[in-house]
Amino acid sequence: MPFISWLNPPHRLLSFFLAVTLLPAASLVWMGWRLFQQDQVLAAQRLQERREYAADLIVRALHKRLAEEEKAFGDPSWTKANANADDVLLVFFGAGTWEAFPKTRLLYLPYSLPPPESTDRLFRSGEEYEFRSQDFAKAIAEFRRLLSSDNSMVRAGARLRIARNLRKAGQFEAALAEYQALAQLEAVLVDNIPAGLLGRRARCALLAERQRFDELRQEAKVLRADLYRARWLMDQAVYRLHAQDIADWIGPESASERETLSLAGGLAWLWEKGSVVSTGKEWSSQGRHSLEIEGRLVTLLWKHTPERTIVLIAGPRYAEQFWLATLQPILAAQSVLLALKSSEGQSVHGASRATVAPQTQRSVADTGLPWTLLVANADPQAEMDGFAARRRLLLAGLMMIVILVSAGSYAMSRALLRELAAARLQSDFVAAVSHEFRTPLASLRQLTENLVDGRVTTEERLQTYHQAQARATRRLHRLVEDLLDFGRMEAGALRYRLAPTDAGTLVRTTVEEFQQEVACRGCTVEAGIESAGCRFNADREALMRALWNLLDNAVKYSPAGRPVQVEMARSGDWLEIAVRDHGLGIDAREQKKVFRKFFRGSASVAAGAKGTGLGLAMVEHIVRAHGGTVRLKSILGQGSTFTICLPVLPDGPNGKSD
Ligand code: ADP
Repeated sequence: MPFISWLNPPHRLLSFFLAVTLLPAASLVWMGWRLFQQDQVLAAQRLQERREYAADLIVRALHKRLAEEEKAFGDPSWTKANANADDVLLVFFGAGTWEAFPKTRLLYLPYSLPPPESTDRLFRSGEEYEFRSQDFAKAIAEFRRLLSSDNSMVRAGARLRIARNLRKAGQFEAALAEYQALAQLEAVLVDNIPAGLLGRRARCALLAERQRFDELRQEAKVLRADLYRARWLMDQAVYRLHAQDIADWIGPESASERETLSLAGGLAWLWEKGSVVSTGKEWSSQGRHSLEIEGRLVTLLWKHTPERTIVLIAGPRYAEQFWLATLQPILAAQSVLLALKSSEGQSVHGASRATVAPQTQRSVADTGLPWTLLVANADPQAEMDGFAARRRLLLAGLMMIVILVSAGSYAMSRALLRELAAARLQSDFVAAVSHEFRTPLASLRQLTENLVDGRVTTEERLQTYHQAQARATRRLHRLVEDLLDFGRMEAGALRYRLAPTDAGTLVRTTVEEFQQEVACRGCTVEAGIESAGCRFNADREALMRALWNLLDNAVKYSPAGRPVQVEMARSGDWLEIAVRDHGLGIDAREQKKVFRKFFRGSASVAAGAKGTGLGLAMVEHIVRAHGGTVRLKSILGQGSTFTICLPVLPDGPNGKSD
């Protein structure tokens, strides 16, 4: 119910006004917010588009670059120029032949060597002595006879067995020397193991057994260096066996050794794959692949012609220098980072930040390149900042609109409410003034009619009639004067004529006149006037009217019979004239407003008291013009005290006159 009544005019108008202004403002804010969100999405989209576009460019450029490489890498001129390039191995396989560039990087052949022609029967008699009768001296003598053989493989086999028997016989120094002699046969194969490698490894093993570690370290180091320089030809199994032994003696390989190893590993992978796929007969005419070996991204390019197979195995440094370097202008122009993943999707090469989302991927299946590409924005923050600045501007604009609309609505609604209140007050005022006039006019008419009709016959009644006529006339006069003075006040045309005045006389005269006026209504005014002889500068007429208004209100807003007190007292340089009643009192929330023109308190309106709402406005105007103030103390239901404070004139030698 209270809410519904609140919606009556003028609040209905106000609500309508607020709805009309705030709804568009709210929808504006909502649209702004949507715009803001869309802008964010757009920013992310732009970054993605940039990555996609850059990824396409990169794919195209890499295809072009690899195609050039594939076209060239079999040519003699290319081979000559790149034979010793860093981190790369080029291998040609023909019918039963092979060739590697640089040769020192092909650590082992990817396929097993054919089984050697058997020479076992030549060693049978020696081995009978060695294993059956454990007669090492006879065995050695038997094997020594074979050292004069024309076949180097037989000679190497004999040396190996002699050394073995010397070892068994406890002649270690002689065994070491024999192994040394075996090693000097270098490339001669003993069971597909080069004699150089076999002899030196056997020496190391004997030194390890004899715990001659210094010598072992020295020899194993030199052996490893030769192994990683591809000094001998061997297959993968032999290589692995020896590399493992050396690692057991002197620890793992160096980084550069592992690099070479990874290239040989690439070739082994391809060989295995090729034989698995096509049983060695037919490979696809060309191919690309990458994989992770020894923690490195190894890339393979191969092609087949009827005569030969050509394989290029590139480490990351080669890829960087000859393929990826061509992408630099694209990466810089598009402000992106690139990382590569191997075809199997493990190893990552390139900017590690490119592996963190958001990134764009191009898989091997999509591109036909040997790697999966990861493309990320180089500085997404900086690019987003550009958008952020725009968004900030948008936000600031939105805030401005909201502030302006709210402030405008607030100001307009206030003005509207004021206007509505003023309109209401004015209409109340007109009604009140009409009412005020009607009462004395009605009584005047009544009195006059009675007189004219000759109904008043006795002298005494005649006297009463004339007094009543005079009262009604005075009231009308005061009313008209009030209105005229109020009009002048509003126009700023009211002039006060101040003159030194005796306060006591002024207050007493006013109170007496008022008492006469209200005596018939049964009201009593009690006056306690001290500080006789106190003087101030006053417009007598105006000040009497102010005091009269206060007295009039005190009587008007008190139930009949309650006395009104007037007190005058001096307080320092100030004279205080207080009018106290025990009537309706004024609500604390209205105590400031009662001095506004046309304002009428709710309690008095509810009590049906007549009034124009001008009395107190005039009191305040007059008192201010005298350099004073009006104070109000009131408790609703208990009564009010209005106190006029005016500055007094200093007591002078002739300050006693009126
Ligand atoms: P009005 O013609 O209504 O009396 P005033 O300007 O004299 O106009 O007073 C303004 C309002 O102040 C009054 O309507 C009344 O509500 C309140 N008022 C003034 N004097 C008193 C009083 N002595 N006791 C209670 N209310 C008062």
